[in-house]
Amino acid sequence: KALLIDDFESYRQNWMDTLKTQSLFQDKFRIRTIEGNYRWFFCQANPHYINSVFDGYVGSLVDITDQELSSQAIQELSEKKDEFLSIASHELKTPLTSIKASIQLIARALSPDNKVSKFAVKASEQLLRLERLIADLLDVSKINSGRLVYNNTVFYFREMLDEVVQSIQNTTHTHRIIIEHSDKVIVLGDRFRLEQVIYNFLSNAIKYSPDADRVILSSEVKDNNLIVSVQDFGIGIAQENLSKTFDRYYRVDDTAMRFQGLGLGLFISAEIIKRHNGHFWIESEPGKGSTFFFSLPLNDVTHFVKPETDNQTYYKDSQVDIWYDREKDWIESNWHGFQNFASIKHGCLEMLGLLEKNCCSKMLNDNTHVLGNWADTSDWGSKVWLPAMEKAGLQFFAWVHSESTFSRLAASKIAAYSNEGLITRFFDHK
Ligand code: ADP
Repeated sequence: KALLIDDFESYRQNWMDTLKTQSLFQDKFRIRTIEGNYRWFFCQANPHYINSVFDGYVGSLVDITDQELSSQAIQELSEKKDEFLSIASHELKTPLTSIKASIQLIARALSPDNKVSKFAVKASEQLLRLERLIADLLDVSKINSGRLVYNNTVFYFREMLDEVVQSIQNTTHTHRIIIEHSDKVIVLGDRFRLEQVIYNFLSNAIKYSPDADRVILSSEVKDNNLIVSVQDFGIGIAQENLSKTFDRYYRVDDTAMRFQGLGLGLFISAEIIKRHNGHFWIESEPGKGSTFFFSLPLNDVTHFVKPETDNQTYYKDSQVDIWYDREKDWIESNWHGFQNFASIKHGCLEMLGLLEKNCCSKMLNDNTHVLGNWADTSDWGSKVWLPAMEKAGLQFFAWVHSESTFSRLAASKIAAYSNEGLITRFFDHK
């Protein structure tokens, strides 16, 4: 009468690995019933401690067959839709190229003072827009199937910025693009794709600020990251919509009817930035304007040049100060500036070291001065670091939020790791 678990070996291996670390166990698997049907189950087992001593697991098993089948059906439909998009955009490209060539021939054949000439110019401008829309659709289908190819070269960032600004400036009479900062820096990356990101940010800044007359662009080196920002004085984005703007097809509801677009530019930009190990985030106030940022790590190693530490009670580098407060008997940490995966992982492991060495159960983690977005650390933070901190004795974790929405989201994701043994609370710096 035994129920057979399909893929038993990999499931068992996963369970054995979890047992070794006595960490949270979560898995999804299929069971074959006596009738020969398959059913999907979600299993979760939480480690249980009595007086900080591991006592075993408390687990649950939930039949998720209905959800699983419907999400498989959605996945199949989504793949079909992507395939259609890919074919459709390829098919649209061929006639478009031929129309473009014909219009160019017509424009050349007409003298500039001919009345028809201005229609040829208008048609060319609209064709350019159509070409961009089709290119976006093609890029999205490539991203979804993992076929977007990156050609990395070493280039002067400033030179590239100047080129993009010039090409956009030629298309607008309403806005002036001001380059406020432009640090001289050499970047390794796909120049064409990074150009596309800046193009998207700038064209959005112009599009979503119809009553303004300028856009400010800046690229500065800070904490070994190149921080690029595009600021507009336009309609802005409400706080609750900020994190969704980089999603595929997402367009803010109340603006979607007023401004043209497909909701793809920022999704493509986000993918390009991620592939360069960078981050993106937005600061915005409705009615006042938005600043779109992205960062590119310039060198992950030099962050930790000359840290100061006595290897027992404190550690300090350019991104974080960590110390043991003897009076309060807690570990306190104060992060500052732009962070990336390397700087966070490094600082977090120093925290773990000091917590263990000073046998602490309390921690005050201050993010007030953290800038930017470091969401790619969340997975590591919640699955590896926080469980390790708990194992090392952490019971009370106070976390002071940064003002940046994206930084707050990253912190909340890490804290999603929850266990009976650990109490986490967030505070606002006031
Ligand atoms: P599109 O502009 O084609 O809709 P994007 O992916 O470029 O697509 O942007 C997604 C959404 O984010 C937009 O529909 C808009 O609601 C919002 N958005 C983007 N840039 C800005 C901006 N500078 N100011 C206000 N809202 C913006």
